[in-house]
Parts: sequence; structure tokens; C-alpha cells
Amino acid sequence: MSEYKYYIKKIFQPAPNQVIIEAGDKSERPVFNYQPGQYAMISYRNRLGQMEDKHAFSLASSPTGSQSISFGIKIEGAFTHGLLNLQVGDELRVFGPYGNFCYQANKYPDAVMIAGGIGITPFFSALNYANDLKLSNKLALIYSARTKSGATFYPEIRSLQTRNSNLRTLFSFTEETGATETNVINTRISAEQIKNFVGDVSGKTFFICGPSLFMASMVANLLRLGVSRAQIKMEEFSMIPDKSWGARLKNISYALAFSALVAAIIFFSFIYEPTPKTAKKNYDANQLAMINSATYERMITIYDSKNKALSDLNQQILAAKSAATNSATTPVASSSSTPAATPVYTPATVYVPAPVYTPPKTSPTPTTGVSRAR
Ligand SMILES: Cc1cc2nc3c(=O)[nH]c(=O)nc-3n(C[C@H](O)[C@H](O)[C@H](O)COP(=O)(O)OP(=O)(O)OC[C@H]3O[C@@H](n4cnc5c(N)ncnc54)[C@H](O)[C@@H]3O)c2cc1C
Repeated sequence: MSEYKYYIKKIFQPAPNQVIIEAGDKSERPVFNYQPGQYAMISYRNRLGQMEDKHAFSLASSPTGSQSISFGIKIEGAFTHGLLNLQVGDELRVFGPYGNFCYQANKYPDAVMIAGGIGITPFFSALNYANDLKLSNKLALIYSARTKSGATFYPEIRSLQTRNSNLRTLFSFTEETGATETNVINTRISAEQIKNFVGDVSGKTFFICGPSLFMASMVANLLRLGVSRAQIKMEEFSMIPDKSWGARLKNISYALAFSALVAAIIFFSFIYEPTPKTAKKNYDANQLAMINSATYERMITIYDSKNKALSDLNQQILAAKSAATNSATTPVASSSSTPAATPVYTPATVYVPAPVYTPPKTSPTPTTGVSRAR
């Protein structure tokens, strides 16, 4: 595997979800040899200073331009979003070239290229290549995209067509209506449209590149038209795992970290028992002592005043009883403020309050100094 340390010469976004990157050697040495249709794996240093895992991208440039290579990239996930942080002069590691979805001019004199979305990139390379070499090969391009503005390299392809009379095009912008430009339709590409556009299918080679469903649908169309399997070449933009040791180790460490997390979750879900609500009360000992002490003081005050009242009452009753005994011989003719001879209430000798609350050891000693029993 060959690795190249290239630098970004141009980077721009022709549409919000696309980026075009042109890169080459810093000292303008020629770039590596490749064939139109091949791809490279690229990597770059992210914002954290780490090299990203390598991802595959078709070389959208023509091998005839030896000073730089270019890529047309659809921004989708983390890797491709990260590309937007790169600037002219930043390093781009390039590995390759790879693949055999190649446009070999001598082998395919009559080629039909069918592109869905970003699947245009390998064909863009081939079209430029044919143009640069002034090939007399017949080229027919069917290019389907959602919108004209989202069709990568559309203006460039239109321009190429003005310079290459061997190039025929059919564009389909499926999310637009009322197409007025020549060779533009707004429907999905059917077998009939392919037939109308390419005519006789014999002797032609059909290249298809794009999303999986698009490719499957185009293959079905071609088979319906009598195209043999051997006439069809395909490139699927599926994920190609980065098999370098750095990437493998990174994946292994991610896998280990993930497994450890899962194990920890399982472990804690088994041993964790929620504390019962009652046990959750967590008093501060000093605070509790203060509360207890205050409550204690309050109780003492209540007991004291109650005792005093009862004591006074006892005194009155005893006094009244004694007075009644003393004047037992003297009949009382009329009522007076003196209590009746027989007391209505016979109290206990002395009121004994219930045992008082004893605060915990931490509480301060009560300062009232009141005797509990009187
Ligand atoms: C031969 C070939 C040519 C291609 N040419 C183009 C092209 O010209 N233009 C274009 O836009 N796209 C092209 N693609 C598709 C392109 O590689 C992916 O769409 C792109 O890498 C996904 O980037 P992302 O930011 O969505 O990835 P992320 O969101 O970062 O990753 C997507 C998912 O893929 C996983 N993944 C792991 N390793 C890789 C890896 N090495 N490559 C990709 N995914 C990985 C990630 O873990 C994640 O789950 C091509 C693909 C192939 C196979």
C-alpha cells in the first residue's frame, strides 16, 4: 500500500452538503499514477490532533492532470463533516490507488455511465480523461440527482459537453418539476428512458455508480432491456473498513471501553439496592440536640406552670378543708366566699408530673434547675 503526504490546494463547497478537495505534493512533484474510476483512502488530522480512520473516495480528477488529485465528497457523518475544518495548506494523507472500476479507453469504446448522486465522481474523472486525450470513444452519461443545484459537477459536465461531441448526456432532477433545459427530465430513470436515450444496447458497456437502491433499480432496468450481466460494471459506495493497525487498535479500545461500560451497568444493577425512604433521614446530631433541648425547655416550662397552678389549687383546697374542720361546730347560715365544708376535689398530696423527656447525651444540660416533683 502506498501512502502519500499531500497538502490541500483548494477546498470549497459547491453546495451545502458537498465539498470538493484538491490536493497535491507540496513541492509540485507529480501525483501518483491511477486510472479514471479508481479510488483512494484518505485521512486527515482532526481538531484534537489525531489522525482520522481512513475513508474511501473516488478520484474525481483525471489522471491526465498530474499536479493534483481531487475528490467530490458528500457531507454525511463525522468524518466528512470533519473535512470542512480543513484549509488550504493542511495535510491530507492519501493511500492508494485502489479498485478496478476503471474506464479503460481501449477496452470500452462505447460506454454508458449511469450515476446516482455523488456516484458521479468516478465518471467525472473518465469524462475529463476522455476530453483531455481527445478520445473518439462514445460516451453517454445518465446522471440522476435530486436537484440541479445538488448535482455535483453539473456545470462542469455541461461545459465538457460543449467541448466533446462524443459525449451525450441525460440529466434527471427528481425533486424538481418543469424541466426546460435540453436533456433534462424530472422523473426517475426507467428502462424505457434508457432505451430511448442509448438505443441499441448491444456492444455497449454499462457502468453504474450510486446508492445501493439506485444501482439495484438500474441493473433491473438494464436486464429488462436485454443487457447481459457481463456488460454491466458497478461500484458501490459502501463502507470499506480501515484495516490499518492504528484503526484496529482504536476499534479494539473502543470495543473494550464499551464492554467495560456495559459490564459496569450490569454489575451495579445487580448489587445496587435503593436505601429505604425511612432510612434516608439524615439528621445533623448538633441540630437534633438543639431541637431536643428547645423542646425539653418548653416542656419544663409547661410542667412548671401546670405544677404551680395545681399546687396553688391544692393549697386552696387544703386551706378550705382545714377551715371547714375548724368551724365544724359553727353552722354556717349562708353561703360565703369560703369553700364548702366538703371539698369538691381531693387532690393527690402533691402532683407528680410524668417523667420528663430526657434529651440525648449530646444535648446541653437544662439550665432551669427545676425540681421535677413537688
Ligand atoms: C470505493 C468507494 C468510493 C467512494 N467514493 C466516494 C466519493 O467519491 N464521494 C463520496 O462522497 N463518497 C464516496 N464513497 C463513500 C464514502 O466512503 C462514505 O460515504 C464516507 O466515508 C462516509 O463518511 P461519513 O462522514 O458519513 O462517515 P462517518 O459518519 O464518520 O462513518 C459512517 C459509518 O461508517 C463507519 N466506518 C468505519 N470505517 C469506515 C471507513 N473506512 N469508511 C467509511 N465508513 C467507515 C463509521 O464507524 C460509521 O459507523 C465511496 C465509497 C467507496 C467504497
